[in-house]
Amino acid sequence: MKLPVAEAPQVRAYALELGRRHARPLGVVAALHVLAAVAGLAGPWLLGRLVDAVTAGTTTGEVNRLVALGAVAVLAQTALIRTAQRRSMVFGEGVFAELREEFVETLTRLPLSVVERAGTGDLVARTTNDVNKLQHAVRFGVPRVIVAVTTITLTVLACVLVAPLASLALFLGVPALVATVRWYLRRATPAYLRESAAYAVLDGTITETVEGARTVDALGLGARREARMDEDLREAFTAERRTLFLRSVLFPSVDLTFVLAPAAVLLWGGWLASQGQVTIGAVTTVVLYAYQMIGPVWELIFWLDEIQVATVSLARIVGVRLVEGDRTAGTAVPTDEHVVAAGVRYAYREGHDVLHGIDLDLRVGERLAVVGPSGAGKSTLGRMLAGIHPPTGGRVTVGGVPLVELPLEDLRGHVALVTQEHHVFVGSVADNLRLAREHAGDAELEDALRAVDALGWVRALPDGLATEVGSGGAVLTPAQAQQVALARLVLLDPHTLVLDEATSLLDPRAARHLERSLSAVLAGRTVVAIAHRLHTAHDADRVAVVDAGRISEIGPHEDLVAAGGEYAALWRSWQHT
Ligand code: ADP
Repeated sequence: MKLPVAEAPQVRAYALELGRRHARPLGVVAALHVLAAVAGLAGPWLLGRLVDAVTAGTTTGEVNRLVALGAVAVLAQTALIRTAQRRSMVFGEGVFAELREEFVETLTRLPLSVVERAGTGDLVARTTNDVNKLQHAVRFGVPRVIVAVTTITLTVLACVLVAPLASLALFLGVPALVATVRWYLRRATPAYLRESAAYAVLDGTITETVEGARTVDALGLGARREARMDEDLREAFTAERRTLFLRSVLFPSVDLTFVLAPAAVLLWGGWLASQGQVTIGAVTTVVLYAYQMIGPVWELIFWLDEIQVATVSLARIVGVRLVEGDRTAGTAVPTDEHVVAAGVRYAYREGHDVLHGIDLDLRVGERLAVVGPSGAGKSTLGRMLAGIHPPTGGRVTVGGVPLVELPLEDLRGHVALVTQEHHVFVGSVADNLRLAREHAGDAELEDALRAVDALGWVRALPDGLATEVGSGGAVLTPAQAQQVALARLVLLDPHTLVLDEATSLLDPRAARHLERSLSAVLAGRTVVAIAHRLHTAHDADRVAVVDAGRISEIGPHEDLVAAGGEYAALWRSWQHT
């Protein structure tokens, strides 16, 4: 299952809306470029006048005057272009920054189930390749296209004003040009879409292989992964060849048109001049204009190509916005801290339930251990209880309100999931902590760190709370990263916590230390601990045994052991080891 790609009308609507939002700066930029283009038209026109003046016989003063005018025009053009380009660059950066922020916001709001199903490759490709391509187009393309379009329009206009009849020859190559460009554009979109998709798949394969390198090694999957990568590369190569072919037809045909236009004007204009229909000066002007247009037309076609690429990227980026949320926040407010699961079912794939109607009434403040064989559905149940995914059947409520009907910011203040994944974000330690409570003061942050026994090492960092961590910053040990995550929990202050193998990946020494931090966080909260070692189960108030998507037994440890059921058997075998 891939993430959606926006349709052309949706992309157009989005681009238009973006243009409308920035209509004023866009207008200013366009006006500046128009002025610059007008100044650029003065040169050939003055030269034409000069030719006519010389032909008719003139004075040195008149020649000097025309040359001086030309110099002024060139200077004015230079100044105008500089201002206009500066403005367009600043404008482009602003728009792009906005786009990027919107995109990140969309990404962080994506339902997790969608991300999991779509795979990370597609998402990574959209956040890197597609954003880069779009960035290039917005930064340089949009301003250049504005320049090219205004220059071409004004130059054609000027030609027609100077010598309407001679200008006719300018358009000789236009039908061929239009035909080629249309031929190209019709084929380009699918070709570039295919190219982007091929790279996304390739990215996915490489990322997965690198991330799972140890597994690949352990299971001897190397050859298979290589074969897959070869296949993905072949597809990328084929896709790239196709777009290259399209360009290799487009570019020479366009070049031909450019050679044709001035030549035609020269011949046709020369004949007209010999018939006395136009002056030689006017023909000179039009020929010069024709040459002057080559640059902008080329640029326009070049950017048409690039913008085509960028449009495809934009479609993929806007597509992410089309993913529907998996929940809608209501207004109901939980009346208490009582978490209840009723008839909860969940299917990762339609028709394949991994939970078959789970009822669970968490007592406020209790510690519940969830045990059971691997693959039984413990983690899935944990995710349901933490409101990560909406159940596909039944519901999980807190104080009478379904978890998935709480606004996300509120949800995390009620129930939080603690897993082994403890990501350190790029930024300062304080930034990492403030993700949980945006406006927390330094004192609050320090309290949270003290609570998890981490204040000592944070203070020992070069800049304390302000130390940059994450990729490129100070390196935190896994245990430290986990402590930062726990301090975030203290700041979030949820009344219910779901722990999923929170400490199982750490080395035992670190784990013991962390367990102390953890128990500080757990104090006074309702805790669901998905246990992989039974001694945690032993310490719990109640134990729930999950088997094949159902709770087969639930009760205090002693009761279950006395009952002599499944848990008793597990407990006995664990004690023997
Ligand atoms: P446990 O935590 O008890 O080991 P899980 O809740 O992880 O069990 O898994 C329960 C079932 O759901 C397993 O059959 C597993 O293969 C399946 N499953 C878990 N996560 C996913 C997922 N992201 N996509 C599809 N199936 C999944």
